Amino acid sequence: MNKIFENKETFIEEYREAVKELSGKSFEITSDIDRFNALAGLIASKARAVSAETDKRFAKDGKKRVYYFSIEFLIGRLLDNYLINFGIRDMVADALSEMGCDLDKLCDLEPDAALGNGGLGRLAACFLDSMAHEGIAGYGNGMRYRYGLFKQEIVNGRQVEVADEWLSKGYPWEVRRPDKAVRIGFGGHVVSHTEGDRTFYDVVDTQDVLALPYDIPVVGFGGETVNKLRVWSAEPIDEHFDLDAFNRGEYANADASRADAEAISAILYPNDAGEHGRLLRLKQEYLFVAAGLKTALDVFRREHGNDWAKLPEYVAIHTNDTHPAMCGPELMRILMDEERLTWDEAWDIVTKTISYTNHTILPEALEKWPIATFKKLLPRVYDIIDEINRRWRDGFDTTQDGWQERLRKTSVLWDGEVRMANLSVICSHSVNGVAKIHTDILERSVLNDFYALTPEKFNNKTNGITPRRFLAEANPSYAKLITEAIGDGWLDNAEELKKLVDFESDPSFLKRVAHSKRQNKIRLAEYVRRECGLVIDPDSVFDVQVKRFHAYKRQVMNIMKVMDVYNRLISDSSFHVQPTTFIFSGKAASSYTFAKEVIRLINSVAEVVNNDPRVNDLIKICFIPNFRVSNAQLIYPAAEISEQISTAGKEASGTSNMKLMMNGAITLGTMDGANIEIAQLAGEENEKIFGLTTPEVEQLRASGSYFAWDIVNADRDRLGRVMDELTDDTFAKLSGNFESIHTEIMSNNDYDLVLKDFHSYVQAWEELTSTYTDAQAWNRCALHNTAMSGWFSSDRTIREYRDEIWHA
Ligand SMILES: *Cc1c(COP(=O)(O)O)cnc(C)c1O
Repeated sequence: MNKIFENKETFIEEYREAVKELSGKSFEITSDIDRFNALAGLIASKARAVSAETDKRFAKDGKKRVYYFSIEFLIGRLLDNYLINFGIRDMVADALSEMGCDLDKLCDLEPDAALGNGGLGRLAACFLDSMAHEGIAGYGNGMRYRYGLFKQEIVNGRQVEVADEWLSKGYPWEVRRPDKAVRIGFGGHVVSHTEGDRTFYDVVDTQDVLALPYDIPVVGFGGETVNKLRVWSAEPIDEHFDLDAFNRGEYANADASRADAEAISAILYPNDAGEHGRLLRLKQEYLFVAAGLKTALDVFRREHGNDWAKLPEYVAIHTNDTHPAMCGPELMRILMDEERLTWDEAWDIVTKTISYTNHTILPEALEKWPIATFKKLLPRVYDIIDEINRRWRDGFDTTQDGWQERLRKTSVLWDGEVRMANLSVICSHSVNGVAKIHTDILERSVLNDFYALTPEKFNNKTNGITPRRFLAEANPSYAKLITEAIGDGWLDNAEELKKLVDFESDPSFLKRVAHSKRQNKIRLAEYVRRECGLVIDPDSVFDVQVKRFHAYKRQVMNIMKVMDVYNRLISDSSFHVQPTTFIFSGKAASSYTFAKEVIRLINSVAEVVNNDPRVNDLIKICFIPNFRVSNAQLIYPAAEISEQISTAGKEASGTSNMKLMMNGAITLGTMDGANIEIAQLAGEENEKIFGLTTPEVEQLRASGSYFAWDIVNADRDRLGRVMDELTDDTFAKLSGNFESIHTEIMSNNDYDLVLKDFHSYVQAWEELTSTYTDAQAWNRCALHNTAMSGWFSSDRTIREYRDEIWHA
């Protein structure tokens, strides 16, 4: 354990000093926000000092550096986490309480960094934690969004998007590094000149912006290794400030170049439906790729000189999904145009350095850009992509059957578009999926043509989550209980959670497990009362589905289940259910109408059900606005049922399934993504699995014999009634009915098989909740899930990346 403070007394002294320095006042009369900023600032400066030591150690050891390129890093709050990772949380809490101040209250003031949006970004954040824990020289490289995605508010049941001003009170963790700024050129045109027998290329007349890095320390558990997350902000290059315009009172015109440049790092995922948004997205992607590669190459040059052939030995570039796909062509550009290597020399280095993780098989999520847009914005990078594509096509063996089809599917340029997934595969030495079934599907179908050509590139790395944040920090009462039983080795090695199996037959321990869960439910109930003005009963079952809203995740099937339960409760006096609180949370993309309608449906059903005295002591529906890491950390520990109900074959892995399992929730899920591995590890008898499997889904689709209306007509009483209630006024009180949802499902012949799986789903839910009354059996099952969840630690995942992809 790295000691960043001698003892409590020196901490108090340094902290008082930090508060004084920040606010000019003595501790006693400062505000909580000053106290938070000073504390975070103090820990950040300690972290930076350890980071400098770490860096020296890595340089001395000749460590391979791993750069993890990701358009999102959903890091959540850092203060509590870094106190835990430095091993000083209890000491600091103690010291603060002596000073008449509450650490939890200060931690609560930290904004969630708006640098990500969902599972992909959270995975990147868990990987940063695990790389630092495993002592890997691993660096995050991403974008610093001024407003992130958006802050979600619910008005009349509808999602309303407002700017997330997460930086408005300052962000004590980051340090601006103007000395490391990188000039990024857009547009212009390519010129060539020859030297001897070689032609070299350059781009002239570009419009440049400055990529400015901000560094955030990443503290590994144990405090020995502190790495960095570098995020880039776009700024105007010179001060093109127009004094004349300003003096004429044209303030906006005077600073127009600033607004244009800053737009690039204003928000995450600008809507790419129009040309403006597409340009912005491409600029973002190129900016953090080009600037990040510059950082990586500068470090390499400093440590190893200009021997670029050694690059793959000392540097790994990992691309998280296709957003950083330009790493390949941009690295080619630098090595050829700036470092004067030949194509073949550069290509060998590029393909040995870059690796790629695929995150989705949804065709609409595979990035494609119009060639015309691409070429205009990045002419030289485009030319290199064109050449990569030409060589790929030239390398095809045209004596093999079906080569034309294979070529069509694997080309980078096709039909007027640049296909980023194909570019990523071709430029990488490793392509991995994120759960066993997902990698199987990539190999078998989505990327099968690549797999047939280079099977050795393909591998699986089942996702993971960090137990420090999602168990130790999020669930302190459970963590304490676990540590009392098996020691604290699980923080270092989560597989040690298996030792909890010995306690599954200990009734008094199971009672304490239940007590901790109840405390977490009360904690969440208080949050819900504050945030939603809704009272929920901590003695009801907490049934949780919290994640981005998407058709394939089938939140609509969940709320249809609740509608069905409600209908039966009011019309069938012999029907009983276990009292349940249905908890939803998550954002829908601002242009995704169907997903936003499902949010409105959930809130509208909640309005009716929660106010109906016939049922409201039995079922309650709760939509928690603005899902993010900080409230996720309150929700997961309180959950008893983990809803993982995606259409089989669609959820690449999922990670909330793992977080919920680790916190003792039982999975009610389909055989999809990592649910399959969860069921294997914990035993199917300890989860509740339902619905079609991936092969069944594929068969049903292939057979052409599925008719959604037949399913509805076969069950007029229940499913038919629920469907009718989408179009009548049963739940239309807040803001109208849900004709659009009905139309979407029926006109696409139930594409996500919501109707097909509905019955087995509702039945599985009824069976699962009916076992809740046997508290001991339920608690044993919950504990077993925690005990078997250690394999899902992102430490395990990251060791696999290290050993099998990065060789670091
Ligand atoms: C884990 C996590 C996710 C991912 O959830 P899935 O159910 O795997 O899609 C999304 N958002 C936040 C805030 C998370 O912590």
